[in-house]
Amino acid sequence: MIDPRVEGLKNMLRDVEVVIPVVSGKGGVGKSLISTTMALLLSREGKSVGLLDLDFHGACDHVILGANIEDFPEEDKGVLPPIIHGVKFMTIAFYSKDMPVPLRGTEITNAILELLAVTRWEKLNYLIVDMPPGLGDTFLETIKLFDHGKYVVVTTPSILSVSVVRRLIMLLNEQNLKVVGIIENMKDPQSNNVIENLAKEMRIRYLGWIGYYPEVNKCIGNPNELLNTKFARDLSKIIKTL
Ligand code: ADP
Ligand code: MG
Repeated sequence: MIDPRVEGLKNMLRDVEVVIPVVSGKGGVGKSLISTTMALLLSREGKSVGLLDLDFHGACDHVILGANIEDFPEEDKGVLPPIIHGVKFMTIAFYSKDMPVPLRGTEITNAILELLAVTRWEKLNYLIVDMPPGLGDTFLETIKLFDHGKYVVVTTPSILSVSVVRRLIMLLNEQNLKVVGIIENMKDPQSNNVIENLAKEMRIRYLGWIGYYPEVNKCIGNPNELLNTKFARDLSKIIKTL
């Protein structure tokens, strides 16, 4: 049986040219900071861009954007994502109001489906999706919704990330999903080429690296400042290669 919400959701995404799910396997690697900054950078280049935060328990893109989540988004034959610093923005935080959401696996998947089935993105060049972390049920259900997505993998150079990222890429390959490549974040330029080698091994593109810049954290909540950081400059170079 066809889930009418899945049909509704595909209908809502019909005028979106490219969906870019940003995935990582591990948390704390910079997936949210990269997703949000990527959306801001593309918007500055004159593209029409949407940003969707699907990290149910750890939604934080609104904090990076400095977005007010007090008001519910406007409704008109669906929900209209508010435009924040030029980016159409949707997050579960509009509804959870930063309170813990006591939902489990299937319930989260249902909530994601419902959010997507009502959000009116309309015409977009890019929709960046900050995907649920981990490789569990919610992640597996969510990747099914973005079967035409161009997946961007984010990792740190940590040896602890490598095996997780390898599994993540294998999983995406098994599902026949298109992986654009891998971004290495918080890299010490002196360190070795663990991630470049991994990209070679997995036959995916190594898109480039971003340095470790602790000062970026002072710009959280202030997109104009964030776009003036070395972090944003490194990411901007990477985006140009895409
Ligand atoms: P994730 O979404 O993968 O859990 P976040 O985007 O929340 O990760 O980033 C985790 C923390 O690391 C945040 O405090 C973020 O500001 C910081 N961070 C991310 N990338 C960098 C970087 N290149 N340099 C310094 N701090 C970073
Ligand atoms: Mg995150």
